[in-house]
Order: sequence, then structure tokens, then C-alpha cells
Amino acid sequence: MPARTQELPIRADNSSAAASPIAGTSKCLPSHMPGETFWQTSRHHLHDHRSSEELPSHSDIVIIGAGYAGVATAYHLVKDHPSLNKSITILEARGACSGATGRNGGHARPDFYGHIPTYMDRAGAEAGAEIAEFEIRNLRALKKTIEQEKIDCDFTLTRSIDVWCNADSASKAKAVYDRMTAEGLEYMEDVAFYTGNEVEGICGVKDAKACASFTAGTMWPYKFIMRLVELIVDAGVNLHTHTPATSVSPDGEGGFIIDTPRGKMHANKVVYANNAYVSGILPQYKKNIVPCKGICCRITVPEGVTAPLLNNSYINRTEDNVLSYLIPRADGSIIVGGAAAIFKKHEDQWYDNVDDSVLIDSAKDYYNNYMQRTYRGWENTAAKIDQIWTGVMGYSYDSNPHIGAVPGEKDQYILAGFNGHGMPVIWLSAKELAQMIVNDIPFEKTTMPRLFQTSQFRIDRALNGKPEDGDILGSGKFAATKP
Ligand SMILES: Cc1cc2nc3c(=O)[nH]c(=O)nc-3n(C[C@H](O)[C@H](O)[C@H](O)COP(=O)(O)OP(=O)(O)OC[C@H]3O[C@@H](n4cnc5c(N)ncnc54)[C@H](O)[C@@H]3O)c2cc1C
Repeated sequence: MPARTQELPIRADNSSAAASPIAGTSKCLPSHMPGETFWQTSRHHLHDHRSSEELPSHSDIVIIGAGYAGVATAYHLVKDHPSLNKSITILEARGACSGATGRNGGHARPDFYGHIPTYMDRAGAEAGAEIAEFEIRNLRALKKTIEQEKIDCDFTLTRSIDVWCNADSASKAKAVYDRMTAEGLEYMEDVAFYTGNEVEGICGVKDAKACASFTAGTMWPYKFIMRLVELIVDAGVNLHTHTPATSVSPDGEGGFIIDTPRGKMHANKVVYANNAYVSGILPQYKKNIVPCKGICCRITVPEGVTAPLLNNSYINRTEDNVLSYLIPRADGSIIVGGAAAIFKKHEDQWYDNVDDSVLIDSAKDYYNNYMQRTYRGWENTAAKIDQIWTGVMGYSYDSNPHIGAVPGEKDQYILAGFNGHGMPVIWLSAKELAQMIVNDIPFEKTTMPRLFQTSQFRIDRALNGKPEDGDILGSGKFAATKP
């Protein structure tokens, strides 16, 4: 596919970063004024940072997007390759970590058996299992880095409890568990699955019919990323916030010209880490990575009230199969979100929608009294929503991220499309992508799961497929896959 770029509509504005958000007016760029979120209540001093007053005229590597993917890529470039000696610039449309990463549920939960059986059906047992194994390695690597760099981000290594309150769903989940254990996968030894009368007593969720547990992590994602930002800025990476890339075009000599409202800059290599918004610059991804909104909130109990301690993270599914992810925090508050089944039919409220300044109307009341109606012993706690917000995810047609060299292009890389599931995926993906960039190696030489590789096949399958055959809006029954 030839290099195709697209001019994005922007509100050009050259005044100071903090005072003048110059993010988008279209679906291609983040909204100007994201709603408040608990995680960003206390802004980091580098949130609106610009490394220099003027945009540099050239950088060897330009990374578009300062969320988890962009910042982790820069971190691995400078920390894993200390003799790299290349200039690196990150362009960020809004403040640093103001996208999905700064607005999510803080749950770093590898997929042991959720989507893995589907990936196995589509591409074989090995291709599916390697995703679970990669995500488990990610969690361990994340923990190691947080400890080594002494990052204060409330990281916990915990057990994640999966709960099913619908009897039919519970027996289907048990069948999946049995299938996965029968595959002989070593990592499944970490999973404990329970059915029977004592399930409610094990997980604490009222009317639970089945539950399972395995190792996962919880954290304060904004604090994690902003500490990495500090480290990379100290290491010489240029960060330019409130500087959206509006187009990327070839310079005719193997490099690229990147347009921004603050002027043009030249790059030798470009990394697209702008997740939900990637098709704004790479339109071939329009049907592969679609901006979709999610909702999340923080629940607190009044001062003086002691609510039962939850010391596990959760995925809860109600009797009517509404799914919520939940993490407890050491301050006694709860972060919980999801409820997609409640708003799914209101497509205008979430699908192909980048407006994280407004809540999802059909779901905004769902978490009122959530703790009281869900957990044993919380009935009289008066727990209530303290803050509620939305965020924009990059949903992918086949549920897998797109990582690697942009098909048909040289020196252009993509790391995007993480759905509601970037936390246990991005860390090592960025590390491996950094290897590709530095050592000029193909995707196949990395340790990333094969199904993560971006490819013309995947691009075309979504472009030519119907939305109702893909995973985002429909059945996921698109034609048989190949990596
Ligand atoms: C409500 C909610 C809850 C979630 N909960 C969880 C969870 O508990 N666990 C989990 O694993 N995942 C969760 N996710 C998903 C997770 O947050 C994402 O998968 C992950 O953060 C993606 O990281 P990213 O860096 O790719 O994207 P982002 O964090 O969105 O970063 C992309 C950045 O690119 C910038 N940008 C966009 N366009 C341009 C441009 N043209 N020029 C310059 N910059 C640009 C954006 O402003 C943004 O800062 C949740 C997401 C949401 C919204």
C-alpha cells in the first residue's frame, strides 16, 4: 500500500502549552477538554511539558503519542540501548498520559482463558497460548521494572477473581477452563476454578455461581507513566505536549516531514503510538482500529465507615451478564468500570467516538450502589461514586493489537489497537518494537505473539469485511485467519 497520509482538521494555536489545548476537532484527534479523572487529580509537573520553546527541526526517531505505548517505547529505546545515540522526540496532542492510559481501570490482568480459546480456534493452539504466555511475562517484567526503578505507582501483585453469577455462563466458563487445562498449558496451573455452594463465600460476590482466580496486578497507571516520562526526559528524550501530529509525508529522500500546528519537523523513523486515533494519520487502519469509549469510576465510603476489605481484583459478571472490572485501592476506595452490555446498543454514545469530555449517558448511573448490590457485607456502607469518567480505547477488528512495521512502508512502525486490555500487553511489546527499530529486524525475530503482527492481510480483512463480522460490533465470525 502506498504511503497515504491525511491532513487532520486542527485548531492551530501557537500560544503556551498549558493554556491552550490544541487537540482535535474531529474523530482523528483527542477532544480538547477531557473530563476529570481520579488518576489525574494531582497533575505531574511534566504533564504539559515541552522540552524546548520551538519544535526541533529534526529528530532521528519521532514517536506520536505519549501514552503507555509511546512512553514505554521511548523508555526501552534509551534504557535497553544506551549506546543508541539517536535523537528521539515524542509528540503528544494533549497533556502527557492524558489518553486511555491516564483514564483506565488500573488493572494489569493477563488473559489466561478469556479470549485465548477464540484465538486458538482462529489460528491454532500455539498461536493462542503464546498470547497468554506473553501477557504473563509482561506482568512479571512490569513488576521488575517498577521495583528496579523504584516507581511509586501503588503497584500490587494480587489474585484476580473472575466471577459468574449466571448459571449458564458459569457452566460455559467451567467448560472453557476444562478445555484449557486439557491443552496441558503450564500457565494454567496458576488458575483455581470453583463451582458449587461455597462460591459466594470464596469470592464475596452475592449469588456467584462460579469463580476462578489467578495472578494479576493493579496500579496507578498515570503515576507509572509519568515517572517513566521523568526518566526519559532526564535521558534526553524531547517531549512536546499539546503538539498533535497532523500528517506524515515522505520527504523524497527516505525520511519524513511531520506537520503540527507548531510547525513541521523532519524524522528518519516514525512510530505511531496514538492508539485510538491512529487512522487519522494512517487511514488504512480506519476499520482495524476504531475509537470506542468506555466508562470507569471511583467509589468511596463516608469517613468513619469501615467497609469489608477486598484484597483481590475482580471481573464480575452479573446474572444478566453485565461485565465489570474492579480493583480495590489501599486508601479503601474502589475503581470499577465496564458495563459495556448496558450501553452497547447505543452506538452513537461510544462507537467511533472520541469525546471523553462527556459520560456515556446510558451507563452513567449503572455504578450507583454497585458495591451494595454486589458484595456481601457492603449493604450498609453508604458507598457512593466519588468520581466518574470516560476514556477512548482503540478497539481492533480482531481484538489483537497492530504492532510492527507499517505494511509496505519503510521506517514507519505502529504500536496501537490495545482495546480495553493494554496494561498487560504494552510493556514488552514496546520493548520488542524498540529492538525492531534499533536493530532493523523483522517482527518474526521478536518474541511477540504472531497474532499481534500488523499485516496487509489483517488490514484488508477489516477493510473488506463487514463491521458485524468483526469483534467490535459483531460476532467475530470473520473468515478463517492467518497471521
Ligand atoms: C475507561 C477505560 C478503562 C480501561 N481499563 C483498563 C484496565 O483496567 N486494564 C487494561 O489493561 N486496560 C484498560 N483500558 C485500556 C488501556 O487504557 C489502553 O489499552 C492503553 O492505555 C493504551 O495505551 P496507548 O498508549 O496505546 O493509548 P493512549 O493512552 O490513549 O495514548 C495515545 C496518546 O496519543 C495521543 N495522540 C492521539 N493522536 C495524536 C496525534 N495525532 N498526535 C500526537 N498525539 C496524539 C493521545 O492524546 C494519547 O495521549 C481502559 C481504557 C479505558 C478508556
